[in-house]
Amino acid sequence: MANIAFIGLGNMGTPMAANLVKKGHTVAGFDLTPANLEFAVKRGVKAAKSAADAAKTADVIITMLPSGKDTIAVYTKAGVLDAAPKGAIFIDCSTIDVTSARQAHELASNAGMLAIDSPVSGGIGGAEAATLTMMAGGSKDAFAKAKPFLEAVGKKVVHCGDAGAGQAAKICNNMILGISMIAVSEAFTLAEKLGLSHQALYDVASTSSGQCWALTSYCPVPGPVPTSPANNNYKPGFASALMLKDMKLSQEAAAQSGATTPMGAAATQLYALHNSWGESASDFSGIINLIRGKTQ
Ligand code: NAD
Repeated sequence: MANIAFIGLGNMGTPMAANLVKKGHTVAGFDLTPANLEFAVKRGVKAAKSAADAAKTADVIITMLPSGKDTIAVYTKAGVLDAAPKGAIFIDCSTIDVTSARQAHELASNAGMLAIDSPVSGGIGGAEAATLTMMAGGSKDAFAKAKPFLEAVGKKVVHCGDAGAGQAAKICNNMILGISMIAVSEAFTLAEKLGLSHQALYDVASTSSGQCWALTSYCPVPGPVPTSPANNNYKPGFASALMLKDMKLSQEAAAQSGATTPMGAAATQLYALHNSWGESASDFSGIINLIRGKTQ
């Protein structure tokens, strides 16, 4: 069993840390928000005084933070790279920009550590149930060392390639999701104008060439998929603010790499409008209301 430092005990980090505790690991946790740390302690995490304090005896350092600058700050300013024993494995599960992810790998490697970027898919439910999809980027050696810990919090673990490849996979996947949810929402809006019922469109498209996850698992209108957030007044699920974050990361990566992503650019603007419409805390599938111009 390993000594794990877990830094960033928010909505995702706490259930992930709790699953590592359940598997028998010792988890020292730290979060800047005292209430979040207290909640994690109730789930078996040992409270550390600081991020560096959590890391000082750790074999594995996991971060689950809001942004790339937070990961870099925890690695450097908070002293985690200096505090951790040489040869420890650093696993960053945050969703961050590819450039910061590669910088985090370089910092870890220069400090004599192994590193993996491993953003996740599956949301808070997946974090609770340990069924996340883990998308890992880093060397073969680092991946081999990280794999048992990724498997402890996830159901599917994919080694996507070298440093930053996990983040690249995550933002490409979420750009597909962001765009496809808008396509499905436009189709239901058109169907409404044409007098076609939601169920009829669903029954046809879900078994035809329009079939996609946004339709069959996360349908943006109530009825056809009883578990979708549309049936629960668009309570997230996956908040529109988080979708906007990921869409912006995709556009940043497209600009830096020279990729042309016109649908991604348009979708990013629509999620920005959805957020400024006061819906940042609603599920992203509520974008159908923006497309309709009304809630029903
Ligand atoms: P959250 O805001 O609930 O948690 C982030 C935590 O990090 C907070 O508790 C905050 O206090 C802490 N924190 C910030 N800076 C810190 C620092 N310097 N030191 C210690 N703690 C610090 O966010 P979340 O929903 O748990 O998401 C975490 C990451 O996972 C994000 O990158 C997000 O994009 C990604 N993600 C979230 C979901 C989701 O459904 N919530 C799904 C997939 C991926």
